[in-house]
Order: sequence, then C-alpha cells, then structure tokens
Amino acid sequence: MADPRRLVPRTDTVLADPRMRTAAERLGPGLVRAGVRVAQDRVRAGEVQPDDLVAAVLSDLPESPSSLRPVLNATGVLVHTNLGRAPLSAAAVSALVRAAGCTDVELDLQTGLRGRRGRGALAALAGAVPSAEDVHVVNNNAAALALVATALAPGRDIVVSRGELVEIGDGFRIPDLLAATGARLREVGTTNRVHLEDYAAALGPDTALVLKVHPSNFVVRGFTSEVRVPELATLGVPVVVDTGSGLLAPHPRLPDEPDAATALRDGAALVTASGDKLLGGPQCGLLLGRADLVSVLRRHPMARALRVDKLTLAALEATLRGPVPPVPARLAADVADLHERAQRLATGLLAATVDAEVRPSIARVGGGGAPMVELPSAAVTLDPRLAGVLRAGSPAVLGRVEDGRLLLDLRAVDAADDDRLRLAVEAAARVLTADG
Ligand SMILES: *Cc1c(COP(=O)(O)O)cnc(C)c1O
Repeated sequence: MADPRRLVPRTDTVLADPRMRTAAERLGPGLVRAGVRVAQDRVRAGEVQPDDLVAAVLSDLPESPSSLRPVLNATGVLVHTNLGRAPLSAAAVSALVRAAGCTDVELDLQTGLRGRRGRGALAALAGAVPSAEDVHVVNNNAAALALVATALAPGRDIVVSRGELVEIGDGFRIPDLLAATGARLREVGTTNRVHLEDYAAALGPDTALVLKVHPSNFVVRGFTSEVRVPELATLGVPVVVDTGSGLLAPHPRLPDEPDAATALRDGAALVTASGDKLLGGPQCGLLLGRADLVSVLRRHPMARALRVDKLTLAALEATLRGPVPPVPARLAADVADLHERAQRLATGLLAATVDAEVRPSIARVGGGGAPMVELPSAAVTLDPRLAGVLRAGSPAVLGRVEDGRLLLDLRAVDAADDDRLRLAVEAAARVLTADG
C-alpha cells in the first residue's frame, strides 16, 4: 500500500483547476485555500478519494464570502431582533444594490457641485410626515437619543418619568445611554404613576428637555397614570418623544403604538424612532420635528460619528416611496389567506409523505413592539426533530416549538417564499429519514 499522504494532490495543483479559480473569483482565495486544506485532510484520513478532492472542496464551499445566511422567518414574529429586524422590500433591496457602487449621495449631478448628503431620503421622510418642520437620519434610534442628549442637554437635566426608564433588550438601557452622554437624568413620578405636577416641580434653569419614552416592550396595568404629550407640551420646555417603533402615522391594528405625526401634532418638539421596526426599513434612527432643533443636531460634531451610509439612505428612501414593505404588509395580511397558504403547504408536504398539519396560531409584532397585540395567524405543524435540521439548511428555516410540535407560522413569511419553505421542509425530512 502506498503512503496515502503521497497521494494527496498538492495545493498548487488543486488551486490551478479552472473550477477552483472560478470559486476563488467568487469567494476570494482565503476561503478556497481553507477548503482545500480541509479536503486534503479528508483525503489523508481516507474519507475522500484523491480524484474527488476538487469536487469535495466545491461541495463544501460557502455560498458567499459573508457568513451571514438568509433565513426564512417562520417564527410568527414579524420584527425578529435576532433575524435582523425588518426584512427589506424588493424595492429597497434593489435601491441599495444600485447605490452600492459610486453614487450621487453627496453630489448634485446637474451642477457638478457638492450636494446635501442623502437629500432624497430626507425629502421622502419629510414628505411622509408633513407636520415635521425638518428631519434627520442617524445610525439607529439609540444614536438619535444619544445625539439629542449630547447636542441639546450637555451637563443639563433631562426630565423623564420613572415608569419610562426602560431596558429595550440585550441589556440596552435608555437611562444608561442618556447618562453616558453627560446629560443628567431628572427622574419624576413613580413606577406606575406620574402627574403633570411632578414634571412641573422638576423644571428649573438647568432643564434642557422633557423626554417621553414609549415603554414599547411591556405594559403596566392597574393603578397607573401617565402624562400625555399635549399636557407635557404646556410645560414650556422642548418635549422629545421616543416612539420606538417607527410608525409615522396611526395604525388601525396597533392603537396603543405612538406615531410621529400624532406626537408632533400634540406638541412634541422632536420625535425619535427606529427605521427597522414597524416602518419596515433599514436600521436607522429617525429624527423629526422643530427645524431649529434638528439644525442643532445636524451641525453637532457628534452627528458625523452617527451618520448613515449610502446603502441605508437608498433603502430608506425606497422604503418610504416604494411599495408597502414586508413588515406593514404582513401586519395587514388577512388570516383567511394565511390559512389557505398553510393548507396548500400542508397538502404539498403530505404529498411528499411529510407529516404536516394546519393549526391556527398567534403571531406577534416583535422587535419589542406592541407586546400585548396578538395577530391571528396560521401555521403548519411538523415533527419537532425537524427544527435543528431546518436551521442548518439552506435557506435556514426558523420556526417555533409549541406543545411538542414544530410550528411554521406563515404570517412573517412572504407568500412568494412558500415554495422555498416547502422544499426546505421536504429536504429536511429526507435528512431526518436518512439519519434514522
Ligand atoms: C427599539 C427602541 C429603541 C432602540 O432603538 P434602536 O434602533 O435599536 O437603537 C429605543 N427606544 C425605544 C422606545 C425602542 O422601542
């Protein structure tokens, strides 16, 4: 028997194979080399024949040099933080691809002179909320709050209700963020109750602003009282409202979610919000309100550190001007349609001898928004052992396990992806069968 190590094809020879060169053009040389090393080890171990080495490398190479993988979100959570929050509309995706190369983000092509950065996206946002005198966009809502505190309240007081000192998720606490900017938090009221007099008593020469934070991921019920924006606006200091979810106007399905237009009409000086929650756009922080304040924010040196890139601006503008994005579309989806899709999916799976049943389900808004809102939905239930196989598939599929079954809830799934979902489940079921 020849020493198997002698039979291992040399790296240079393998890399010279035209299929390897094509792969390297797509993925870069590093990933391909790493793949070759792994396959050579498998030849040494006797798992792969020397002649099959190139095929083995090719079948194990990733689809992209980025390790982020697409996931079909069948959890029933519309804005899933761990899945990157809002999926972009096709229009937003194509806008950001168009802007990915060189683009006129900061140039007026007509005059050839420097133009206002992101003017199209800013105009679209201003157009969507006519009650805003001016608008600005930063990296996320946390950045919007940080900029407000840094530019408008350095070393001064931000008056905020104790019931609104919230933690958003993953340990992110709004009071810590504000304090980190050097602003002083002046807490008023108690956890469950606050009155206009509490705010009024806290005001003084050091007061920069009153902040109202939407407690987006919990509700306090029972003996409670809060002070609404129209009353706060009578205090004579700027009222900044963190609406969180990014609704620009009231939403009939989400009566308890605040929106930018209403807050501004009620007298808020500034509104902040996320772009990638209910608005359904890219991660960004929206700032809307009084022109003089927005101007101070925009001119502050810190604004540069918080600014968004051309891809975000492109996707935001297309989200605002283009067709309804996935999140609001799925929020509005008719439950009868979801049941019909679930039935079709289950029928297809049964035809492929995959055990599948249709079940009514409760979907959620997610992303820390509208925590009490239950969205009626429909799911296909499967053998729970499929959960891990589906997560490992391509595309990965994420469902949720409930009552000993794996649920694929269709409310957060684009109808155009139903076939991909079915094929992914069929492939996973075959893996499960093969593994016994
Ligand atoms: C989500 C949320 C934030 C944080 O927004 P990011 O865009 O994630 O920075 C801040 N405030 C409220 C009320 C929120 O709901």
